[in-house]
Amino acid sequence: MKIILNNTSLFESLRPFNDLGFVPTMGGIHKGHLSLINKSNKLCKKTIVSIFVNPKQFNNKKDLKDYPRNIKKDLKILKKSKKVDFVYLPKFKDIYEDKKKSKITLQRKDKILCAKFRKGHFEGVLDVMNKLTKIVKPKKIFMGEKDFQQLYLVKKELAKKYRTKVIPCKTVRDKNKVALSSRNFLLKKNNLVIVAKIFKKLVDIKKNIKNKKNIRGFLNLQKKELKNNYKIKIDYLELRNINNLKISRSNKNSRLFIAYHINKVRLIDNL
Ligand code: AMP
Repeated sequence: MKIILNNTSLFESLRPFNDLGFVPTMGGIHKGHLSLINKSNKLCKKTIVSIFVNPKQFNNKKDLKDYPRNIKKDLKILKKSKKVDFVYLPKFKDIYEDKKKSKITLQRKDKILCAKFRKGHFEGVLDVMNKLTKIVKPKKIFMGEKDFQQLYLVKKELAKKYRTKVIPCKTVRDKNKVALSSRNFLLKKNNLVIVAKIFKKLVDIKKNIKNKKNIRGFLNLQKKELKNNYKIKIDYLELRNINNLKISRSNKNSRLFIAYHINKVRLIDNL
């Protein structure tokens, strides 16, 4: 596993390879990331993982400051997996060399879910994914369904400009069905017990949606119940179509999306 610290070294190291699978991350490596790496390892000749906490996608300074960082531990896990050929650890200037202001804007119809609650977040994500794709030039990029809206927007954005294919990967959960996330490192044990209970409740809600005529009304009631029972703040609880992310009127081709705050940590999930 070669560790790459700047773009000159990156270009040199990657020159011989064109069947490259890319797993972009912000570190805090867990089994969710490793599942993306495994898939890349199966489908591509070489796999490159990047670790870059992109400041431009944080709409909140404290969130950026508190984001879990442990590069030593991350490298140890990646090396142990034996599935990673290159780890790219760019500096801010490696990514934002050209200093040009990003021209990325979201369409009105995409200003939903996290885009509505984290202003500027996806503009930052799309900007960095454009830059990383231009620099790494991978054949395939592996991204998790855990961040479904991110996957949806990045896929759409990259399809306009590059040949690179975005490959969706299933959400990895722990034994209590909690979706793995670097942000879980910020939670206490008893928070995780509640997160598991919330997931169970979401499974019930999704099942019960089938018989409901007024889904929006039903979800509003469920939202209130979740808030009261678990003392969480909920940004959204919505059923949306997986192909266009429009509000759904039935369970068909749909996922239930949630974002909530527990112990000041913002979590998202979909099922
Ligand atoms: P992050 O480091 O949180 O920016 O995530 C890097 C990539 O890993 C993104 O494509 C995420 O969607 C994906 N990912 C994060 N958590 C999971 C998970 N539990 N299961 C599958 N993929 C995940």
